[in-house]
Amino acid sequence: MVETLNSKSGIGMTSARTRGRMLERLREQGIRDAVVLAAMGAVPRHLFVDQALESRAYEDTALPIGFGQTISSPYVVARMAELARHGETSAGRDLGRVLEIGLGCGYQASVLARLAREVVSMERVAALVGKTRVRLRELRVNNVKPKHGDGMHGAKDYAPFDAIILAAAFAEVPQELLPQLADGARLVMPLGDSTQILCVVTRNGDSYSEQRLEEVKFVPLLPGVA
Ligand code: SAH
Repeated sequence: MVETLNSKSGIGMTSARTRGRMLERLREQGIRDAVVLAAMGAVPRHLFVDQALESRAYEDTALPIGFGQTISSPYVVARMAELARHGETSAGRDLGRVLEIGLGCGYQASVLARLAREVVSMERVAALVGKTRVRLRELRVNNVKPKHGDGMHGAKDYAPFDAIILAAAFAEVPQELLPQLADGARLVMPLGDSTQILCVVTRNGDSYSEQRLEEVKFVPLLPGVA
């Protein structure tokens, strides 16, 4: 795996400098949380996409990861992480256990793993779970638990969560997920089908408040497993 070793040592488009430019762009786009920026700087995004796409890994774009799915753009990954930690202010809180729905290639989970004690990540496509589990092991990301299953129902056995993040869009907030939030915790998701809005639901005791933010573009949350 000479190429991988080369890219790990930071040559060319996949170098630390390229990642530094990505961080500059994230700051320009309004990402303020230093902890999130540090996590984005530390995770080698190029190792989560096919080698043919490595040189594009740090562009601000979603890229295909096979099975008709995409790795979310750096901005959207950073934005969701920031919202999970605190919302619009600049100081965030450390997270204990986080639920991600839509593991995909494991990039977002690896970023979240630097902000949380543990990330439980559900994925409906079995082949992606297998492939990503191997990748996470190789990259020594030890606090992500990939789970094969329909994330629409959450992961009751692991609840409560300090944040729930959906990496796939749905027309409504899946109601089964709400009681799985810890008090004060937030759920962040793309809400809608053809037009989607980033949505944050915050739990306060037995009530929930909802905030709608900017427009986003995600693949759909699909029922069942594959
Ligand atoms: N966070 C991922 C983005 C993956 S795209 C990354 O960084 O790569 C969204 C993923 O959600 C896809 O892999 C898709 O298979 C998965 N998905 C869609 N519906 C789902 C469901 N009901 N339960 C679990 N995963 C689902």
